[in-house]
Amino acid sequence: MELLKKRILEDAEFVGKDVLKVDMFLNHQIDVNLLDQIGKEFYRRFADDKVSKILTIEASGIGIACMTARYFNVPVVFAKKGQNCNIGDDVYMTEIASFTKGTSACVCVSKKYVGPGDRILIIDDFLAHGSALSGLIEIINEAAADFVGAGIVIEKGFQPGGKLLRERGVRVESLALVESIGDGKITFG
Ligand code: 5GP
Repeated sequence: MELLKKRILEDAEFVGKDVLKVDMFLNHQIDVNLLDQIGKEFYRRFADDKVSKILTIEASGIGIACMTARYFNVPVVFAKKGQNCNIGDDVYMTEIASFTKGTSACVCVSKKYVGPGDRILIIDDFLAHGSALSGLIEIINEAAADFVGAGIVIEKGFQPGGKLLRERGVRVESLALVESIGDGKITFG
């Protein structure tokens, strides 16, 4: 998605050698018009998949998922993390390693909101090692819902998540594939 790549080149900052900071338009300040275009593009890619619900993870995925859900006209469910998991006993739960924080957190989704008959599209901001995506897929499987695929805003192709998930047969659609961020320069795949 050219508009997104242009925005990444203009505004992304680097943290260390493998983290991209996009607080200017996605992770802190949010460019709602850009998010609207992102939602429209996810809809174009998954329009024929009879999506009935969008699943994401708090916090950064929520805005993107909501803007996308407006095109599909379906609800958004977001997995809650850590101490926010106090939503009762009737939950699907899994552990997700946080790539950026170097910790792991328990995430959960109430059984009320995901279940058999749902056709679920996962939306998230980044794909790095694939831990977040794998955890959400685990929850969908546990809930006996159908997993349609994953829409990712920025995939970092120099980290293994995308390759590993595609090898498992997971449909991953990324709007920007960053192949490297070496020497302060971003290269797209
Ligand atoms: P994974 O589970 O695939 O290793 O990492 C994905 C999650 O970690 C995303 O939900 C995202 O919040 C965070 N993440 C991974 N890499 C980056 C990055 O380069 N920048 C930002 N801002 N978040 C990232």
